[in-house]
Parts: sequence; C-alpha cells; structure tokens
Amino acid sequence: MHILLMGPPGAGKGTQAAKLVEEFKVPHISTGDMFRAAVKNQTELGKKAKACMDQGKLVPDDVTIGIVKERLSQPDCKKGFILDGFPRTVEQAKALDKIIAELGLKLTGALNINVPAQDLIERAVGRRICKKCGETYHIKFKKSLKEGICDVCGGQLYQRADDSEETMKNRLAVYDEQTKPLIAYYKNAGLYKEIDGRQSMDKVYGDVVAVLRG
Ligand SMILES: [Zn+2]
Repeated sequence: MHILLMGPPGAGKGTQAAKLVEEFKVPHISTGDMFRAAVKNQTELGKKAKACMDQGKLVPDDVTIGIVKERLSQPDCKKGFILDGFPRTVEQAKALDKIIAELGLKLTGALNINVPAQDLIERAVGRRICKKCGETYHIKFKKSLKEGICDVCGGQLYQRADDSEETMKNRLAVYDEQTKPLIAYYKNAGLYKEIDGRQSMDKVYGDVVAVLRG
C-alpha cells in the first residue's frame, strides 16, 4: 500500500492517516516530519534545508525531493507508506514517480478526502477549544453542556484566530490553486480516488479502506 493522501486543510486527513497506520502498520510520512528529522539528524540535505529556512528562504525543490528520496529509501517503506503533504506540484509528482520507480515500488493510489469549501469554513468558524485542556467543541456539531465552558475540566472555551472565515477562505483558495493540476495529473495516471469527506470519520475511513482494497 503505497499511497498519497490529499485533502484540504481541515478535512481530517491526520485522523485518517493515524487509523491507517494502526491497521496497516505502514509509516505515515508527512513533509513537515521529514524536514524536522533531516535537520535533526544533520544529513547533508537536512543542513541545506536548515540553511534556507534560517534565512527565511523557500527550500529549493531539489533539496525537498532529495529529502523525500532519503526517507522513502528506508526499509520501513518497502511494504507501504502514506505520503502526506508531498507532492505539491506536478514537477514534484514527476520526481516522485522517478524515485518510486528507482526503488522498485509502485504507487497504489492518490486519495483525495474531499470536503466542499463551504463545509470546511462552517467547521472552522464554529470550532471552540478549551484554554485549559485543549478539548475541542463546535457550536453546532459538538456543543458543550454549558455555553463557553468545557465539559471535561470547566475551563473557558475560545476561538482560534486561524479559524476565521477570512483565513479559511484564503487557505482554501491557495490549496485549490495548488491541487488542481495534481488532481489532473493523477487522474491521467489512473491513480486518482476521491473520498467523500463530508461523512462521519468512521464512514470516511470505511471508504478509504474500501478503495485501498479495491
Ligand atoms: Zn477543558
């Protein structure tokens, strides 16, 4: 099971990845984690990436691709991986195809957990978080018993600044712009699978597994 997991911010990709890791015992590889590991282990590429980040520059594609290659070459990726956050561009997708072929592996699918923008905005705007214990609520879908108060610890609930309609709209627009060409690329390769992310987490997971089992 060598798959890419795609989906807009807030679609619940992290939850699905965690369930897949538990059931299929394959590594979940996110770009962020990969970068942190490369920097921490001071690999050649990690040092290059760190130098860019320290200067506030974008990490060049060849460094990013090199880090992905280092990670996918590890023995734990032989029987599978869930790649998350990479590729972001068609150029990177092509580079990934090359890496996978060199490793003698085959991509099983590019799964997109799709949720319409309006739903994601509603989810984000209504989200409330406990200041004390971090428990999350939603003003419509998961109300606390007492308005503004955490059921678990009695702490105060607040809304994250990032969870505004404006911020979400911007993030989703950027994501859409970036993802469209990738969707076309993987459709063309016969690997694209869309999952309806509006359902409950368990139903979404059921669909993901059904797609993977083909
Ligand atoms: Zn709490």
